[in-house]
Formats: sequence, structure tokens, C-alpha cells
Amino acid sequence: MKKIGIFGGTFDPIHVGHLSVAGEFAAAFGLDQVLMMVAAIPPHRDRPVASPEDRLQMVQLAVQEYPGLTASDLELVREGPSFTLDTVKEVRKEAEGAPIWMALGGDAYSLISSWYRPEDVLAQVHLVVLTRPGYSVDLMSPLPKILSERYTSNGDAYLHDSGGSLRTLQVSPLDVSSSMIRKAVFEGESIRDLVTVEVSQYIQQKGLYRPQTV
Ligand code: ATP
Repeated sequence: MKKIGIFGGTFDPIHVGHLSVAGEFAAAFGLDQVLMMVAAIPPHRDRPVASPEDRLQMVQLAVQEYPGLTASDLELVREGPSFTLDTVKEVRKEAEGAPIWMALGGDAYSLISSWYRPEDVLAQVHLVVLTRPGYSVDLMSPLPKILSERYTSNGDAYLHDSGGSLRTLQVSPLDVSSSMIRKAVFEGESIRDLVTVEVSQYIQQKGLYRPQTV
């Protein structure tokens, strides 16, 4: 059966760090397809600078050369606030019951108790919290007690009594971030090697991230 991964982000813009980590995520769990899930208006952070359409377009351009990665607009086309639970349910429906792995940064995971019905999300996916060398994440402490009680440890993962698992994956982050790229474009510096050629051309053609002229 096909194995599906979800890698969410604002992708404002998508960069080589995202592509590299998505590849590591796919390889670690033998995933057939990773959905690069473009967030609409992410909670707990600033509004993206580029429009949802531009961010989606850049993800589509970036994944062209990566057969295992697919741009997903599921959260963009949804009306109203976007909940992870809705995304997971829709992906599961489309994947006809295929197992789903969802990757998440440590910062996002630390806020899990503020999610809408986290227990329902965790019952439906294998959740993978990304860490970097030298950092460790305590997987149980961000969970409400009632939820942590539903897990047993089996060595390298925690198993939820529904069958879902919770684990960390150490990835090798590249020294790049979307904010670094926006700043470079704003200041007229090169972003070569930080994004794919197609994304760089798109940013230039559309005049994204440049100072506003009045
Ligand atoms: P910003 O600089 O605007 O905060 P970002 O580069 O962190 O953006 P996001 O779209 O917020 O990009 O990131 C989506 C996911 O990718 C998050 O889980 C984030 O931790 C991860 N990520 C971002 N940059 C890297 C990187 N260089 N290496 C590994 N993971 C990354």
C-alpha cells in the first residue's frame, strides 16, 4: 500500500532546506509521496508576505524535479480557519486509508496542546517531530496528560493505542530560511543556491519580496 507523507509550511518562499528535509523524511519512512502542504494563514505566526497563489506556484515549480514530492493546495482551498485535523482527514480520504506520516518542526509540536482536537489527529497519523543534531525533544511533555497516557514506548517510538506512532527524526538542516531569502531579495542580493532556478525566476518575474515603490 502507498505510504503518504505530509510536510507543511508557509513556503514563503520554498527553499532548498525544505526540499532536502522532505527528501530525508521520505527516505526515512519509505514514503511514496510527500505532500508539500501550503499553509493558508498559519496560526501563531506573522501573515505570509507572498499571496497563497504565489506560494503554491513556487512549490509547484520547486517540486518539478522531485518525483516523490507533490504540491498540495488542500489548506488553501478550504473556507474558514484551517485545522490540522481537517487536513489529515482529507488526505486520508483521498489516500483511501493509506497510512499517513506527518512531519512537524519541534516548535510547532511544542504547541500541540493548543491544536483543535490533537487527540484525533494523533489517532490518525504517524507523527514525526523533526530535530536537528545536538537537540533533543521530549515528546511526552507537550501532550495533555490524558493523551500521553494513551502511549506506550517501544524503544524508538511511542505507540498510540489507536496504532498511530509518535517519534522524532533527526535531519540535517541547511543554513537557509525563508526569512533569509526574503531579506536577501529585499536588499537586492543573490538567492542563487538557496532556491531552485525556477523559483528564483518566478520571484524575479513577479517582483516578490522587493521594497514597495510608492
Ligand atoms: P521563516 O524563515 O519565514 O520562518 P522557514 O524557512 O522556517 O520560514 P516554513 O515554511 O515556516 O519555512 O517551514 C516549514 C517547515 O520546514 C518547518 O517545519 C521548518 O522547521 C522546516 N524548515 C525550514 N527551514 C529549514 C531548514 N533550513 N532545514 C530544515 N528544516 C527547515
